[in-house]
Amino acid sequence: MTIAQHKVVTIHYKVTEVASGEVIDSSEGGAPMTYLHGAQNIIPGLEQALEGKQPGDEFEVTVAPENAYGEYSDERIQQVPVEAFQGVEKVEPGMAFTAQTEHGPINLIVTEVDETTVTVDANHPLAGKSLKFEVKVESVREASEEEVAHGHVHGEGGHQH
Ligand code: ZN
Repeated sequence: MTIAQHKVVTIHYKVTEVASGEVIDSSEGGAPMTYLHGAQNIIPGLEQALEGKQPGDEFEVTVAPENAYGEYSDERIQQVPVEAFQGVEKVEPGMAFTAQTEHGPINLIVTEVDETTVTVDANHPLAGKSLKFEVKVESVREASEEEVAHGHVHGEGGHQH
């Protein structure tokens, strides 16, 4: 079966940051990843590269930031009054927070702290980075109607509900 819209795909993968050569994530020695194709479960550049592939196919693809986790944006760096962190004992650079916004929760990293303001960065940690994926397609199956309706995979490797 060929990978196309609304197929459930299981892959083994390794992700390397191109600039540093650092391995960011790998399913080697662990469970493979299962996702619903065409439902934006994975980054666009990887999903495009998987289109038309079949079980047993192995390939490498380098994905530019705009098709991965986005460009790094200075607009996502904000200064917040220290009072916004009431209840946190000590705010320090490197701390991660989840903030509730009108667009849903976003993850923030504290980059600087002074007496009155805390600087937070809402860029994805992999924003601005080109990523190399090494992929092996393990299996492909039809999605159920329920999976298509939910936009994600059920059962093994997916949502348990
Ligand atoms: Zn579901």
